[in-house]
Amino acid sequence: MNKILLIYTGGTIGMMQDAKLGTLRPFNFKHLTKQVPELSRFNLELHSVSFKKPIDSSNMHPRVWIELAEIIETNYNTYDGFVVLHGSDTMAYTASALSFMLENLSKPVILTGSQLPIGIIRTDGKENLITAIEIASAKNKEGKALVPEVAIYFEYELFRGNRTLKYNSEHFDAFQSPNYPVLAEAGVQIIYNNNSIGKASAKKLSVHKNLDNDIVVLNLFPGISKKITEAVLSISGIKSVVLHSFGAGNAPTDDWFINLLKQAIDKGLIIYNVTQCLEGRVIQGKYETSSQLQKIGVISGEDITLEAAVTKLMFLLGQKLPSSKIKNLLSQNLRGEITLVK
Ligand code: ASP
Repeated sequence: MNKILLIYTGGTIGMMQDAKLGTLRPFNFKHLTKQVPELSRFNLELHSVSFKKPIDSSNMHPRVWIELAEIIETNYNTYDGFVVLHGSDTMAYTASALSFMLENLSKPVILTGSQLPIGIIRTDGKENLITAIEIASAKNKEGKALVPEVAIYFEYELFRGNRTLKYNSEHFDAFQSPNYPVLAEAGVQIIYNNNSIGKASAKKLSVHKNLDNDIVVLNLFPGISKKITEAVLSISGIKSVVLHSFGAGNAPTDDWFINLLKQAIDKGLIIYNVTQCLEGRVIQGKYETSSQLQKIGVISGEDITLEAAVTKLMFLLGQKLPSSKIKNLLSQNLRGEITLVK
């Protein structure tokens, strides 16, 4: 019988309304499972662990990702798959972070949550939870996991975790994976898009637990000033900047702007160019407004999401590698987070 471990971190799925304040706050795991009696009807062994204090995922932090990765590491050989219950707000960040931290994965790690608490009659949480468990335990004829990667299941779709973003705070259909096909669709049957699902690694799982959050996102907008750009680039201790750029990776061509970036790079800062567009990619050199970036050594994020870029940087900086190596790895596809075009 398949064994699945359910890890409850918090999020709307398990929340209840505070009687006095009327706000939604995380509740304990017993409450959640009581709402889903269907869990006992699965033909699999389902065990669970819960964070002592479940959190709203807006309180998510790299230290919690380390805790999560440790739970998966400790239980890796005992279970066939993992389902992580998580708030939807930062789920795409957690899925991205776990994809980098869990190297050589050969078992499913499926994150899910909901837009409405599981105790509410119209909840989307039940379907999300039940199908996520089914996907985490799905195997092929050879007995190998069908989805040996970190993925997000939400509202009938399964996405590669490090390709997702939360784009809707209102609809049940809250996630998108604009630059990568869905991994599976759940209707009457669950149809797996096997060509897009990553292959299981034959190597031993290696869990990376050092993350370095000395990074900043510089979000460009027309009219961004010299004093703000200068202040961001000279924050003490930062090691890397995500340059959240326009269109195909474009930025102002003002001399002061390019000079500030160049000085920062010369000082050792790693600048990673990630587009504000949800679809498409950074192509440095396509426009005049990005050719200078290429020349001064800004690294192209290709079609990476902001969520994956931030966590990839935390992961790589945490490895304490030489800057040249980090830059090289940023340009490479490590866990299916970018598509490189030749
Ligand atoms: N604020 C909630 C959270 O991210 C929203 C959700 O779960 O959907 O924890």
